[in-house]
Amino acid sequence: MAARLEVSILPEVRKLFPYMRQWRRYIHQNPELGFQEKKTSGLAAKVLRQAGWQVFTGIARTGVVGVLRGSRPGPTFAIRADMDALPIMEKNRCVYASQVPQVMHACGHDGNTAMALGAAVLLARYRTEWRGNVKIIFQPCEEVPPGGAQAMIRAGVLKSPEVAAIIAAHVDTSLPVGSIGIKSGLIMAAADAFTLIIRGKGGHGAMPHKSVDAISIAGQVITNVQHVIARELDPLEPAVISFGTIAGGAAYNVIADQVKLQGTIRTLSDQQRKKIPRQIERLAHGIAYAHRAKAAFTLELGHPALSNDEQITDQVRHAGNQVLGKTRVKILARPVMSGEDFTYFARAVPACFFRVGVGTKDPRYSYPWHHPRFDFAEQGLVSGAAVLVQTAREYLRA
Ligand SMILES: [Zn+2]
Ligand SMILES: [Zn+2]
Repeated sequence: MAARLEVSILPEVRKLFPYMRQWRRYIHQNPELGFQEKKTSGLAAKVLRQAGWQVFTGIARTGVVGVLRGSRPGPTFAIRADMDALPIMEKNRCVYASQVPQVMHACGHDGNTAMALGAAVLLARYRTEWRGNVKIIFQPCEEVPPGGAQAMIRAGVLKSPEVAAIIAAHVDTSLPVGSIGIKSGLIMAAADAFTLIIRGKGGHGAMPHKSVDAISIAGQVITNVQHVIARELDPLEPAVISFGTIAGGAAYNVIADQVKLQGTIRTLSDQQRKKIPRQIERLAHGIAYAHRAKAAFTLELGHPALSNDEQITDQVRHAGNQVLGKTRVKILARPVMSGEDFTYFARAVPACFFRVGVGTKDPRYSYPWHHPRFDFAEQGLVSGAAVLVQTAREYLRA
C-alpha cells in the first residue's frame, strides 16, 4: 500500500475538476452570509456522505464536520474550509454570477469549500493506506467577528477524535494557477475595530462661535491619528489604522453636534495591538478637549494575528513540492495585513494556512479579495485540493 503514496495524485485530482467546478459554481450562485450557510453546508454534507465520510451537521448553527477513519489507529489530521459570502453586489456577468442581490462570494470561500470537498472525495479513496483519522471542518462565518471558528471550537470540533494538526487553503488571485503560496510564522494580521464619537454642540452655520463644530474636530482627529503610525511606533513593526465610516450632520447650514467614526486597526504583534487603541483614544481625547468637545472611544476586538507552525508548514511545503514541483511552491516573503479567523484553530493546535494560486493573465481574474468583480481561474482548485490531500496522506503515513 505504501508504494501507492509515491504515485502522483495530480491526475486523479484533475479527474475531479469538473465536480469541483460544479460545486464552486453552485455555491457562487447561491451565496450565503455568515451563519446562514444552509445550501452550502447541505451540499458539503451530501458530498461527504456520498464519499463515505461520517458526517455531523448543525455544528455552530450551520457548520459541518466529517470524520474519516483510516485502517489503523493514529493521530487525527484536520482540514478546514470557510463557507460564507459577503454583503457585496456582484458586478460580474458570468453564467455562474450570484443570484442573490447584495450577497457575493468575493473572498473565494466558494473555491475554498469546493477544494476541500474535492480533497474529501479523494481522501476517502485512500483511507486504507494510512493510520489515524482525517477530520474535515466546514466552518460558517469567517468574515464577521467573533466568527465561526471560535463557535466551532466551543462546539468541540477539535475533540473526539482529538485533532493533532490542522491546515486550511485559501484561493489567491495574486498567485498563478498551479502554484501555492506558503510562509512559516506570521502570515496574517490582528484585525480590531473601533468607534469614535466626537461630541460638540450644534448651532447655526453662520455662528460658529456659539457652537462646537464636531465635523471640523473629527477632521483633525482623522488626520492626526496617522501620526500614531508615523511618529509613535517602531517603523520596523508594521501597523495600519484606517477609517471606514464617517457620519455626522443633517443639513448644509447647521453645525453638527456629533460625528461618529469607525475604523480598523491591523497589527502583527500583541504588543502593538495593545498599544495602538490607547494611543488613538489619548489623541482623540486631547484634540476634543483642545476644542471644547468630548470624545468617546470604544474598541471591539477582532481576530488575533495568524501564525503558521514551522513543522506543519514544512509538511505542506514538502507535499506541495511532491505534487506540484518545487518551482510552484512560492515562499511568501511577508504577511498581509488582512485578518483571518483560522487563527483560533492555529492557537489551539499546530496549523498551517496556505494560499492557492487562482490568477492568470486574464484581467477577469486580477481583482483582489472583496472586490465586486472578484473572480478566479477555477483550474487552480486542482493544485489546492492536491496539496490538501497529499499533506494529510504524508502526515498519516503508516
Ligand atoms: Zn474575506
Ligand atoms: Zn477569505
